Amino acid sequence: MLDGTGVFTVRSAYNALLTQALGTQQIRFTCVVWKIKIPPKVKIFIWRLFVNALPTKEQLLNKNVALQAYQQRCPFCNDALETIHHVIFSCCYVDRVWK
Ligand SMILES: [Zn+2]
Repeated sequence: MLDGTGVFTVRSAYNALLTQALGTQQIRFTCVVWKIKIPPKVKIFIWRLFVNALPTKEQLLNKNVALQAYQQRCPFCNDALETIHHVIFSCCYVDRVWK
């Protein structure tokens, strides 16, 4: 993949791979995240959230790490599989923290 000037760059390859993986809508959002004036660790956290790269039990299972059923659950509520969606959006414990 080439950039707008017709030159291959690491950035153009990165953008092509990211577009292929996420789609253009999320690409625009993740690009906006880098421009917001927030601490770098928060930017990285948000970016990892949107590229599905936060360390969760679901990620370990996807990498064929053997976990017992009790080890797969959310450490906060101990009620569901620890997924990014669960921990950020639907965990009852985390919901109280957000509020
Ligand atoms: Zn939970």
